[in-house]
Amino acid sequence: MTIRLYYNSSYVTEWETKITKTLERDDGWYVLLEESAFYPHGGGQPCDTGTINGVPVLDVISEEDEVLHKVERLPDGTTVLCQIDWQRRFDHMQQHSGQHLLSAVCLKLFGAMTLSFHLGIDSATIDVERPELTLEHLSQLELEVNQAIYDNHRIASYTVSEEEASRLPLVKSPTVTGNVRIVEIENVEYNACGGTHVASTGGIGMIKLLRTEKIRGNTRISFKCANRALKEFNDCLGIIGKLSLKFNTGKEDIVARVEKWEQEEKQILTEMAALKEQNDSFVARELLERQESGLIAHQFENKPLKDLQSLAIKLSSLTNNPVLLVDLTDFKVVLSHSGRFERACGAFFKEHLGEYGGKGGGSGTMAQAGFGTLNEVLAFYEFAKAEFRSSIS
Ligand SMILES: [Zn+2]
Repeated sequence: MTIRLYYNSSYVTEWETKITKTLERDDGWYVLLEESAFYPHGGGQPCDTGTINGVPVLDVISEEDEVLHKVERLPDGTTVLCQIDWQRRFDHMQQHSGQHLLSAVCLKLFGAMTLSFHLGIDSATIDVERPELTLEHLSQLELEVNQAIYDNHRIASYTVSEEEASRLPLVKSPTVTGNVRIVEIENVEYNACGGTHVASTGGIGMIKLLRTEKIRGNTRISFKCANRALKEFNDCLGIIGKLSLKFNTGKEDIVARVEKWEQEEKQILTEMAALKEQNDSFVARELLERQESGLIAHQFENKPLKDLQSLAIKLSSLTNNPVLLVDLTDFKVVLSHSGRFERACGAFFKEHLGEYGGKGGGSGTMAQAGFGTLNEVLAFYEFAKAEFRSSIS
């Protein structure tokens, strides 16, 4: 049986102990220790990392009454010096204690029980039994949890018998039988929990609630405590700083500037659409004047497919002759007519595209296709031109 040092104190970071057993499993070597402060995965909290006699600990799991430490390789000797990655562990302690406090305040304010807790690398979440929480609820919750942090309630952990536990006003009945470990936040709550916690709520530093989402009729709250919250704040400041520079204004005016920008963009798009329409009319007139043998065919550079299509539609509204347009930049072809011409555009494409490596299709009066190379698109264009000319003459 491993003596779990983290049960008595979350602040043990370095200790000497003996290796009691080593195991070789399919995924690597495991070491069992007489005493361990390494926290194994459990209760929503990820495991600790660190070293055993300088050898990195990769994973820590709990199996019955033993703690198994997965190591990079077997450490030398039987008496070993163990060290915990304190930065990682302390962060976990802050997030986990923050979670207890957040859950306790959520229960007190809204009667919403916490159903689950997940401590991720970036942020942590709790799922609470309530279909939704408004922004006002969140803001009230956040203020009250932060107040409880400033109040610096002592956090104590101890083990009691099942019978003693049954007399405590526990948040939830314990899932374990026999002795129960209690984490008590003085004047706030008693919770059956095996995790590691800071010594008093002041150690959480601060809490920032980030967002909520609906999960199976309940609400998931994402939050960050301590340095994670500070980092979030700094990241946001960095983004705001960049936006301030781009818009050459203070943060208070950024939203107004973006809204103005949106309006200007809308106006530009409207003006551009009108200019395109004018340009299409001009080009259409030119092409109509220059048409030979009843076919309008023209090559463009840099004309997007939808512009080719709108020009083709315009031309087909002015003449009954077929219209064949090609873009030599993106290798696109459009064929259209008013409906007075006997050959169906889509059927013609379907029949001949394959021979030229093109892909596309369309209706009786409008078809479009794309090609992989300039040679292919030009070859198809010339072929289609010749075909339509011969069917006109
Ligand atoms: Zn807990």
